[in-house]
Amino acid sequence: MQRAPFLTDRLQGFGTTIFAEMSALAERTQAVNLGQGFPDTDGPAEVSEAAIQAIRDGHNQYPPGPGIPSLRAAVAEHRARFRGQHYDPDSEVLITAGATEAIAAALLALTGPGDEVVTFEPYYDSYAAGIAMSGAQRKVVTLRAPDFTFDIEQFAAAFTPRTKVLLLNTPHNPTGKVFSREELTEIARICIEREVIVVTDEVYEHLVFDGEHIPIATLPGMAERTVTVSSAGKIFSFTGWKIGWACGPAPLVAAVRTAKQFLTFVSGGPFQHAVAVGLRLGDDFFGAYTAELRAKRDRLCSGLAEAGFDVLTPQGTYFATCDITPVGGTDGVEFCLALPERCGVVAVPSQVFYDNLAEGSRLIRFAFCKRDEVLDEAARRLRTLGA
Ligand code: PMP
Ligand code: GLN
Repeated sequence: MQRAPFLTDRLQGFGTTIFAEMSALAERTQAVNLGQGFPDTDGPAEVSEAAIQAIRDGHNQYPPGPGIPSLRAAVAEHRARFRGQHYDPDSEVLITAGATEAIAAALLALTGPGDEVVTFEPYYDSYAAGIAMSGAQRKVVTLRAPDFTFDIEQFAAAFTPRTKVLLLNTPHNPTGKVFSREELTEIARICIEREVIVVTDEVYEHLVFDGEHIPIATLPGMAERTVTVSSAGKIFSFTGWKIGWACGPAPLVAAVRTAKQFLTFVSGGPFQHAVAVGLRLGDDFFGAYTAELRAKRDRLCSGLAEAGFDVLTPQGTYFATCDITPVGGTDGVEFCLALPERCGVVAVPSQVFYDNLAEGSRLIRFAFCKRDEVLDEAARRLRTLGA
């Protein structure tokens, strides 16, 4: 019997997310978990206290659909303060269940069967699933190791008359690349020429160690065609709260809101109050956070180099990519599956973020958003690999 394709057909092969799988592996083997990217310490006490206070104050029912007004205002203030971007909190800011929902809702709202979405590989895992759920096709452009640059001709060639959206991510997970102004200017030129909307995932915007975070929406002609996504999970180290947001021109944000209202409707009422407090913290908080993570990057990267890996030092995010060739690895998936047994550490094989598997077959990703003693212990264990 003929039947319409089910959504599960579109998601065939997606299985369990790599992050959940690797955390389960770490749990099972009692390994040091540098796989899934989540901090092992809490964010600022004022922010968690504000969440507790919000519960005590009775903010426990559905918040308004677009998010509570004070958080929308705080998001707009934050974008203006750090990025010089100006959004109307009522029509141009939408609070979502993490960046994940903002991205999925944007893809569902802006693309459908017959459309194409261009994105860079390696890509964050939810991009492929979000594109598949909308029924669109992904077209990938490879960021080539070791410096994760791309070919602009190849990028332009990925666009067809069916391309609706470019899904961009800077600072970039898993590579740690921070797109330069020159690269973003070229990308913007092509998106304007092809009349393509940009959805830009900037969840690591406060984790730039070298270079500068440039929101593509700040380039000429881009604000009107860009949905910018960010998240409190990464800014305040409360990944379990799942408070994110999408900012952009009113018609685009209205489209995202339409999809969002039937995904979760709303979420995280008390946490929305707390994140509004967080976004208004002083510059000292944001500066100290970046400095702390920069030191962790340097700590883990030297540990990995001492263990014999070829470290591709990240400019941003909280992930470091390594080539496993110098430690005798040829296949990152096999390498990561064996690593807990060999030395009690979990990492993520970057190959799972590629369509062109060969490009990522020798790359693996370590998270460094962990306590110093955890990073040191992981490095100590990894050094035994060569022994
Ligand atoms: N985008 C990227 C690049 C990520 O690494 C993550 C993981 N935090 C997300 C989106 C999802 O963010 P959230 O937890 O806010 O949904
Ligand atoms: N963003 C995190 C990472 O890249 C994981 C989030 C998740 O598990 N979905 O590791």
